[in-house]
Amino acid sequence: MTPISMPPISLAVHGGAGNYELKDQDERIAQLRQVVTEGKAMLQDGAKALDVAEALAVLLEDCGLYVAGKGTGPNSAGEYELDACIMNGADRKIGAVCALKGYKNPVRVARKVLENTPHVMLAGRGAENFASAQHCDQILNPLDYYIVQGITRTPEDLDTGTIGVVARDKHGHLAAATSTGGLLGKMQGRVGDSPLPGAGCWADTRVAVSCTGQGEYFIKAAIAADISARMRYGGYSLEASASGAIHDMGVQGGYGGLIALGPLGDPVFPFNSKGMRRGWIDGDGEVQTAV
Ligand code: ASP
Repeated sequence: MTPISMPPISLAVHGGAGNYELKDQDERIAQLRQVVTEGKAMLQDGAKALDVAEALAVLLEDCGLYVAGKGTGPNSAGEYELDACIMNGADRKIGAVCALKGYKNPVRVARKVLENTPHVMLAGRGAENFASAQHCDQILNPLDYYIVQGITRTPEDLDTGTIGVVARDKHGHLAAATSTGGLLGKMQGRVGDSPLPGAGCWADTRVAVSCTGQGEYFIKAAIAADISARMRYGGYSLEASASGAIHDMGVQGGYGGLIALGPLGDPVFPFNSKGMRRGWIDGDGEVQTAV
C-alpha cells in the first residue's frame, strides 16, 4: 500500500543492465545520484514529467559514462547510430528517432518529433534532415566527440549502458524516455527496443517504463506495453506486472531490466541480469542508488 505521506512526485533513472559483474561503478553511481537530485529539484519546482524525462536523459547522454549520446560505441561499420524515444503518459504523445547519426542528443530530436511533427518516429537520413531543420546540436567530428578521454571503459561498460528515465510530476502525470547507442558491434542499421514505443519505452496513465538489455528479446515480448496491459486487463500491481514481464522475457532467453513508475507509490526495478545501474527517489523523498 502507498503510505499517505508519500510525496506525489517520483523519479527513477537507469544506466543500463548487464550480465557482467558491474565493478568500479563509483563514478557512474555518483553521476546517477546527481542526476536524480537535479530531477527531484525540477519536479519540486513544478516541472512537467515530460520535461524532466528529457532534461535528465540529456544529462545522461552528455556525460559520456553510458552507451548513449557521447558514450556511444561504433557499430560494425564504424559508424555511430543512435536511438531514442520519449513518451508523455497523459496524452500518449510519442517522439522517437532511430539510426540517427551526427546529433548530440537523440532524445532532444525525439522530443522535437513529438512536438513538431504528426508522426511518432523518424529514421536515418530523414531524422537527420529533421534534426538539422530543428537546429538540434550537431556533431562536427564524430571521432573527436565520441572518444571520451580520461574515462576507463571496459567492453562490459560498452555493452551495458542504455539510459532511461521515468518521472511523475506533482499533477500525477507520467513520462518516460530511453536513449541508446545500441548493442556493442551491432550491424549497420540495427534498431533495438529502446526507440520502439511499447518495447523499450512506454508511458500512459497507468505506468511509465524504460527498459535496458538485449533489445531483440524486449521487442519480442513487447515488454513496456505488456506491463500496462497486465495492470489494465489482469488487475495486477505494478510490481507483479513488471516482474512478470521480465520473467517472461527471460523464459524466451533474454536478459535485462527496467524501471517502472505508476501514478502512486515508488518505482520498481525488476531485472534478470547480474546488475542494473539505477537511481530513484524513495517514499521518504530520499535519493537512492544501486547496481
Ligand atoms: N536495449 C538496448 C538495445 O538493444 C541495449 C541496452 O539496453 O544496453 O539496443
